Amino acid sequence: MTGDQALRATPAPAARAAELDAADPLRAHREKFLTGPDDDVLAYLDGNSLGRPLAASAARLDDFVRTQWAGRLIRGWDEGWLDLPLHVGDRIGRTCLGAAAGQTVVGDSTTVLLYKLVRAAVDLRPGRDELVVDTDNFPTDRYVVEGVAAERGLTVRWVESDPAAGVEPADLAPAMSERTALVVLSHVAYRSGHLAPARELTRLVHDAGALVLWDLSHAVASVPVELDAWEVDLAVGCTYKYLNGGPGAPAFAYVAARHLDAFRQPVQGWLGRADPFAMAAGYTPAPGIRRVLSGTPPVLSMLALQDMLDLLEEVGMPAVRTKSALLTAFAADLAREQLAPLGVVLASPADPARRGAHLTLEHPAFRALTPRLWAQGVIPDFRSPQGLRLGLSPLSTSFAEVATGVAAVRDLLAEQA
Ligand SMILES: *Cc1c(COP(=O)(O)O)cnc(C)c1O
Repeated sequence: MTGDQALRATPAPAARAAELDAADPLRAHREKFLTGPDDDVLAYLDGNSLGRPLAASAARLDDFVRTQWAGRLIRGWDEGWLDLPLHVGDRIGRTCLGAAAGQTVVGDSTTVLLYKLVRAAVDLRPGRDELVVDTDNFPTDRYVVEGVAAERGLTVRWVESDPAAGVEPADLAPAMSERTALVVLSHVAYRSGHLAPARELTRLVHDAGALVLWDLSHAVASVPVELDAWEVDLAVGCTYKYLNGGPGAPAFAYVAARHLDAFRQPVQGWLGRADPFAMAAGYTPAPGIRRVLSGTPPVLSMLALQDMLDLLEEVGMPAVRTKSALLTAFAADLAREQLAPLGVVLASPADPARRGAHLTLEHPAFRALTPRLWAQGVIPDFRSPQGLRLGLSPLSTSFAEVATGVAAVRDLLAEQA
């Protein structure tokens, strides 16, 4: 088999992909994303780890450096830079989170915001000594919870769930009690893509008098989220995944308005203080969501995600979700037809309504196969021990890319069998 043939999808899936692409009402938006100078990527299937850049972001970054940074210099801080974390936070809240203004802020990494919010949550529930987290949650979430528990003399109560699915009410209920202070869960599981029933789980946590913190890293801008309507307490999430903020773009935090007055986070920095430029003695938290901040905001790193917010505002989350479900359904169909006969197993919920925008396939050969896929320009990612994760960023991924990617996996598996 020549390399060319190996990369081409079999006629039927390629034709189906072409039909789906032609019928995709969002297809024109794909051209707004940049490809590299040598354009060696045939199928980018990792937009859930790092979204592609929008062309508008290249222009925005260049313009910012030349006009704002070079032109305004130190004056820029008073002309909007200092408020950018709140301004961009409100836009994320409005466009993607169902969050009214004044509750979302952009700041540190997801890990650091998790730490700040978990610590703050413990103090909002005095007398309760258990933190609940699931064994299959993203590593950083587990480590932060373990770290805060050690620091504060609390107990971690672990929830077990089906790794090919995720936490459901029946998994969480036995862990809840009058000792529970906080429950940390992911809305879309990083491995399986399981979409947690967030409203129901939040209610379960509240029935026990505890608080919930949702990690939205794989959910924001891929599935509709309604933090205010679900009465969520706290949330964090990435902006470099489906918000296309670029490598190292800062995370966001949400604190429900009803908790803000009592909310105290442990990294007491000058820019989270009331009236920071008074340079006064002692720390008094700033009013409102600004108190989540600590130091100087990463202004350059908040630029690109604003272009994705422009696009998401134009398109709307319901249309994004509709295309996303079609993409994962197409990928799951092709995997069943072409990969299951070679021993590949779907390690994600079978129902598109129960999953986010990515799928995980499992096979013992995937660890060795992943670098070979990358060398061919087919880019999923590998998750130990044997998961191949296909992340289908709804606005930048075509159905043709899905067909090309699955065909490449099939050809490499068939070759080594
Ligand atoms: C990607 C991801 C993170 C990343 O945290 P960083 O501090 O940005 O490295 C955290 N939690 C979840 C669930 C993720 O998917």
